[in-house]
Order: sequence, then structure tokens, then C-alpha cells
Amino acid sequence: AHSDQPHEASVKAAGLIQAGINRVSYSESLDAIDISVKNTALVIGAGISGMKAAIDMAKSGTEVFLIEKEYLVGGRIAQKESLFPTNQSGKEIITALYQQIKRFPNITLFTGATLEKVSGSLGNFNLEIKVNHKDISPIADPKEAKLVMDQYENNEKKEIEETISLIVGAVLVASGFNHYQPKEGEFGYQTIDNVITLPELDTLMVNNPKQLVYNGKKVNSIAFIYCVGSRQTKGENKYCSRQCCSSTIHTSLQLKEKYKDIQTYHLYRDIRTYGKQELLYEQSSKQGDLYFKYEEKEAPVVEKDGKTTVVKVKDYLTAKMPLEIEADLVVLVTGMVPREDAPHIADLLKIPTGSDKFFNEIHPKLKPVETVIKGVYIGGTCQGPKNISESVQSSMSGASKIIALLKSGTVSVDPIIAR
Ligand code: SF4
Repeated sequence: AHSDQPHEASVKAAGLIQAGINRVSYSESLDAIDISVKNTALVIGAGISGMKAAIDMAKSGTEVFLIEKEYLVGGRIAQKESLFPTNQSGKEIITALYQQIKRFPNITLFTGATLEKVSGSLGNFNLEIKVNHKDISPIADPKEAKLVMDQYENNEKKEIEETISLIVGAVLVASGFNHYQPKEGEFGYQTIDNVITLPELDTLMVNNPKQLVYNGKKVNSIAFIYCVGSRQTKGENKYCSRQCCSSTIHTSLQLKEKYKDIQTYHLYRDIRTYGKQELLYEQSSKQGDLYFKYEEKEAPVVEKDGKTTVVKVKDYLTAKMPLEIEADLVVLVTGMVPREDAPHIADLLKIPTGSDKFFNEIHPKLKPVETVIKGVYIGGTCQGPKNISESVQSSMSGASKIIALLKSGTVSVDPIIAR
């Protein structure tokens, strides 16, 4: 054993070290490889986040291809009548962004466009984009757009389909989210005629400028049921959707302002109006909106009693007192879920998704917009629930990363080559 022969052990160790040094003297240094990159980026998704990111990159001289699956830009925001805290309409904000995009010669917007093939890597991604050209303005009124879409479906107009090949240096995915769609019978959805979702209420409000009418009847009372499709301890969506408490309370304030005499009841599990949004909650409580706290294990039950819809709830703030609320309309506050095309995009770009099926960043705090694929970034709600400000901030952060990466025209990559 070495401990019995210390002198010999030392000689052996010195010999091994000398051998190592001799070997290193024959090695060649591995230097990082500089590759030239195109100062061109693809942004997937022309919602508010993707549009803002595209503008930021274009301002810095990057050529941007912005693709949107739908024919209208602006995503979910475009349909919102009023947004907190400025009370601007979604259409106003999206139209302003679209006008800016049109002024940049280095942004090309394709609507009706989907990513079909990806090869290559950081600095030189080869992409194939399928575009179905239809004669619809990206900021058209949704009703007008629907009429034109019908003409295409009835073959009165013919769309032109083409596949475009692009080479881009980097990709920003800002493909957004879907609203959770309640299952048939969930809180009476689709089985009781006056149970709708929050996005459906938004549309109803846009279509009823003077008086809120549903199924031919004036609406005097609304019961909101929170956390539908989110925070499911036994279901798939365990996360909180972050923005729906604020969105609902803001809608409640808008209802009072627009239609004056509507009573709202809020059946919530927790109120998460963090930051400045807390002001909404305070304002809502002061204006007489009524709040009842329920637990998931004793969720509200919606029943039809003759012509009346009744919501039964045990209010945890008053020692689980059973209450029955008559409501002209029951609104399910549905959360966010990943878009149906998220697995397709994840597969093409090789970006991982989490157990919640949203796209995964490398590190939530230290690399919040980077993915494991160099040159591919994520921003906005495709990454997980966010409110509008957070969503725009994250896509702008992704845009900044891409600007820094592509601006010099070269990037250094690891000197590892497959032979
Ligand atoms: S934001 Fe509010 S309503 Fe939405 S999931 Fe979270 S707690 Fe529920």
C-alpha cells in the first residue's frame, strides 16, 4: 500500500504529474468558433407581446418576420373593451401598434401563417412558413372579418396558399394562450342556458352598448364563479392564472359604469389582485359588489329552479353559512391554458414544456426568456399565465436578447464539432 512506501508513492505521483504536463504540451487549444449570423428574426404570434417585440427589434435594425396564425392581429387583447389602468380599449392599443408596424420597412407581417419546418441552429435557422393569403385587414372588426371568412368558406373568394422559406438568426415565440373551455355541465355550462364564461361576457358587453340583455332578458344580477379551470388540486391545471381576479373585478367596475344598476356577486377562493390592481378590489368593495369565499372541496353549485338560476355556496367568511344567490347570469371566470398548437411549435423548435404544458425557460429567475435551444427565446403567456404588462415585459426582454445577439453580425459558439 502507498502508506507503507511513502517515498515510492511520492516518486510515482511526481511521475504521473510529469506525464500529464507532457501530454498537455502536445494538445492544441480549442478556441470558440465565430459564426456569421443574419440580423434577422422570426416572431411567432402577433398578439400585443409579439407586436411590441417586433417593433423593438425593428427599431434596432433587425429585419423581423412576424407571423400570426389568425387573420386578425392583437390576439385576446384586441377584443377587450377597456383595459386597466388606462381604460383604453384593446382595439385602440392594437391599432396603434399595427400602424407602427406598417411604418417599419424591416417588419414583414404574415397573417394566416404557420411555422411548418425548422432546421439549422443559432444564427442560421432555416424555416418554412405556410401562408394562406386572405383579403382581410389585420385590424378589421371581428364581425366584418367573419363575413369575409364565410365568403372564402363558401368558395365565393379563393385564398392563395404559398410556402415561404426564410433564414433567420433567432426566433422569439410569443404565441399566447387559450382560455380554459369549461366541460359540459361544469358549473352548469352548456346545460343551464344563462351560464357563460368571462370572455363571452366581454363579447356580450361589446354587443350591448346601452343595456345588458341576455337571451332577450335584461340582466340585473351577475354571479361570478372564480378559479374555473385553474388551481385544480386534482385536475391538470394546478397553477393560478394570475390575471383573472383583476380582469373580473375590472369587468365588474365596467358593468356598473356602463349599465348602472347591476348587482354583482363574486364567489372566490382567494383574491389575487397584486400590486396596483389591489385598487380595483378596493373600488369594487366600495361600490357594493358582494364577495363570498368558497373552498375547492365545497365548490358552488349552479341549479335551475323553474325560470330562476340559483347559485348555492357555503361562505367561509361567515362560518360556512349556506347561501342561495339568484342570478340573471352566471359567469365562469376561466383561466389560461396553453394554445392547442403549443406541442407543434415545441416539437419543431425542440423547446421543452413543463408539466403545465406551457413552454419552459432555462431558469425562472436567471434565464427567464432563454430556452435550452440557443437562439430560441420565449415571451408572454406562451410561457405561463401573466397579465398584459408582465407579458409585454417578457417579450421585450426576449427582443433585447435577440438584438444583443445578432447586432454584431457574428456569434461565438462552443468549439465542439460532430465528425
Ligand atoms: S387569478 Fe384569481 S381567479 Fe384566477 S386562478 Fe388565480 S385566484 Fe383564481
